Amino acid sequence: MTHSTADVVICGAGIAGVSAAYHLAVRQGVKNVVLVDERSPLTLTSDKSSECYRNWWPGPGDAMVSFMNRSIDILEELARESGNIFNMNRRGYLWATADPARIEDFKRTAEESSSLGAGPIRYHTGQPNEPAYIPASAEGFENRPTGADIILDPALIRQHFPYLSEQTVGLLHARRCGWLSAQQYGMYMLERAQANGVELISARIGGGVDVSGNRVRAVRLSNGNGSEIISTPNFVNAAGPLAKQVGQMIGLDLPVFCELHSKVAINDHLEIVPRDAPMVIWADPTCLSWSEEERTALTESEETNWLLDEFPVGVHTRPEGAGDSPIILVVWAYHIEPVEEPTFPLRACFLKTAEVFCEIFSSEFASIMTLTCS
Ligand SMILES: Cc1cc2nc3c(=O)[nH]c(=O)nc-3n(C[C@H](O)[C@H](O)[C@H](O)COP(=O)(O)OP(=O)(O)OC[C@H]3O[C@@H](n4cnc5c(N)ncnc54)[C@H](O)[C@@H]3O)c2cc1C
Repeated sequence: MTHSTADVVICGAGIAGVSAAYHLAVRQGVKNVVLVDERSPLTLTSDKSSECYRNWWPGPGDAMVSFMNRSIDILEELARESGNIFNMNRRGYLWATADPARIEDFKRTAEESSSLGAGPIRYHTGQPNEPAYIPASAEGFENRPTGADIILDPALIRQHFPYLSEQTVGLLHARRCGWLSAQQYGMYMLERAQANGVELISARIGGGVDVSGNRVRAVRLSNGNGSEIISTPNFVNAAGPLAKQVGQMIGLDLPVFCELHSKVAINDHLEIVPRDAPMVIWADPTCLSWSEEERTALTESEETNWLLDEFPVGVHTRPEGAGDSPIILVVWAYHIEPVEEPTFPLRACFLKTAEVFCEIFSSEFASIMTLTCS
């Protein structure tokens, strides 16, 4: 057993732990920071994300909008100082509906987010004297509108978003939103943290955390070569989906739970979704349009009869990759039952999401799509 000391021990080298290490060592000048992970950095959840950000959140209260505005300020600072090495864009999130009744929801939620500090709302209904709609640029994030555009003018919808269903009647385009390469962002922070003295240790915090007098005293590590104790007064729990289990090591029962979220990557070889599209979110529930023959066949088995049900709102998609990449990502928070004890690797549950997504955008596309899982 070896002994060492540290000012701070961080459990977990996902984006949260790496960011904590960066901010402690680089921004705050803390000298002796140790980052511990049993996996390679950024490989459990942080490289599976759809890598998007938004300041567009509902209430109650302005906590999320304020928190995200501050986080996006920091992201932009890091993008500027690094020459935008992690390709941060500001294409926005585009909610779309084919249901005229939902337009009131768009207006209500937009007024709410705007009043909480997310920026102004611009209406585009086809009336004279309205502000011009400024389309998003594919790259970069500087000097772009904030707030949101609510687009109800059918001609404007067709002009800028011809790839959406012809039944689309309303759009909400939230603007201080977009995506980046989370992997490159994380590696940028990790390399800078290491250059400022952060030590990355490949081990599991498996032996527990010593606590006495209501203070953390030491952290017990194990790896293939044996075990190690690091004496420290400060412990950061950045264990992601394992945060509850790690919290128990210091006697805390954190009020958190896990949900399974899936992401599919589809080869959009028919080029249904343009490469400069924003994050598109279909805001209506959806039913698949099966033939009578298909319906009969699907009804016969419990494994397939769910395909006849109505599917929930909120399928997300965006283009992924540079240049002429044909890939689009699809994300749907579909299986939202809490998972008691997360285990890895997760069970794949992607097909449902992909099929419904494809039906929304093009049934022809659905019939010849290829599906890969990530
Ligand atoms: C499909 C999907 C899409 C998503 N899309 C978005 C999005 O668009 N935007 C967004 O902001 N977020 C998104 N998220 C959420 C985002 O990915 C996570 O919130 C984020 O990656 C969590 O990072 P983390 O550092 O907390 O956890 P993780 O990346 O999971 O890192 C935790 C680390 O802790 C380590 N660890 C745990 N226990 C121990 C231990 N005892 N000893 C040592 N190491 C330990 C693990 O090995 C792991 O490396 C998405 C998530 C999913 C699954």
